[in-house]
Amino acid sequence: MRYIEFLGERVSVLGYGCMRFPTVEVEGKVVIDEEKSIPLIDRAMEAGVNYYDTAYFYHNHLSEVFMGKALGRYPRDSYYLATKMPCSMIKSLDQAKEIFEEQFVKCGVEYFDFYLMHALDKESFDRNYSLGVYDYLVEQQKLGRIRHFGFSFHDTPTVLEYILDTAKFEFCQLQYNYLDYSVQRADLQWQIATSRGLKVIVMEPLRGGTLVNLPKEAREEMNSHTPSYTPAQWGMRYCMTTEGVLTVLSGMTTMEQLEDNIRTASNLSPLSTSDYDMLERVVERFTSVPLVPCTGCGYCMKKCVRGVYIPDIFRDYNEYVLGGDKESYLSKISALRQDLHYANRCVYCHSCEAICPQHIEISALLRRIQAGAYRLTEEDRYI
Ligand code: SF4
Ligand code: SF4
Repeated sequence: MRYIEFLGERVSVLGYGCMRFPTVEVEGKVVIDEEKSIPLIDRAMEAGVNYYDTAYFYHNHLSEVFMGKALGRYPRDSYYLATKMPCSMIKSLDQAKEIFEEQFVKCGVEYFDFYLMHALDKESFDRNYSLGVYDYLVEQQKLGRIRHFGFSFHDTPTVLEYILDTAKFEFCQLQYNYLDYSVQRADLQWQIATSRGLKVIVMEPLRGGTLVNLPKEAREEMNSHTPSYTPAQWGMRYCMTTEGVLTVLSGMTTMEQLEDNIRTASNLSPLSTSDYDMLERVVERFTSVPLVPCTGCGYCMKKCVRGVYIPDIFRDYNEYVLGGDKESYLSKISALRQDLHYANRCVYCHSCEAICPQHIEISALLRRIQAGAYRLTEEDRYI
């Protein structure tokens, strides 16, 4: 395992994103499947992964409890636990204080190694800042309850500059991968953060699986360059070898994904010019299809009064435009129309859109997909 030094810490370049553990349904509720998830944590610890990133929201508020239980079996100084203040839902300082205390109880720890203001954009930063949440967390760091203080971010480079002009942080968590580098100007965000001395924690290195299920031509491009590398290995290696990166978070659901990432993190070498050229050609292939830039984070589901399975609908659609069979996709849609969670349940209330970190116009896209995905073509290009 490769480690990166940071303010006296030694952080593994592969970090565990704790929002995609395997799940199981118990009495009608979807919960973390502990029987399958505990061995994942144990294998990660054994391989030297020492950074675990959870959050108040993950797994319907159950991820923190699970992580407390899973990591509590190891010495406290053998892992770094990161969690986050759910800034999107904070309406008062008292509420933030209550949540902060609740997180200690849920995780069963006395300090957080890394603590973040979660998914900041202009609106949520301003609101939390004026409520005094930022100052309160700075105080908590002085008290030793937070060892390192940062934020995760979903807005424009201009807003990132604005936040860093206003407040002081040690690190930030950015959506960074070879597709977003140019398409979403992740390059600029990375530049802004690192030029101010912040370390970058990478989230969505595989863009919620999009960089694993490549369009056919992109897959061919990669295979002919280096047949022995999987698309996931290229995506992870790209991020892990970027200067200024502290750790790359991967939400690993299966042992196979974990082993694949461990292999990448253990045999890292910088990308060559011809590797970068190949990835550029892959990006060109990618941007020739109208994908929905959904990462499958599921935040929107918390707001949907109609229970629409938004990320599943976008995933099916993306799989189709990436080379799936049109006939079988259309027959799936027609069957799904009877489903209580399909796009036709959407009442266009827009509640889900304010919370989407990718700023997707969810209801408009659902409307088009519902009308027939084959009509969502070039003119609706979304990336
Ligand atoms: S706009 Fe549609 S999908 Fe979004 S919350 Fe409202 S009903 Fe649900
Ligand atoms: S639509 Fe947005 S909030 Fe919903 S799963 Fe996709 S990226 Fe996440």
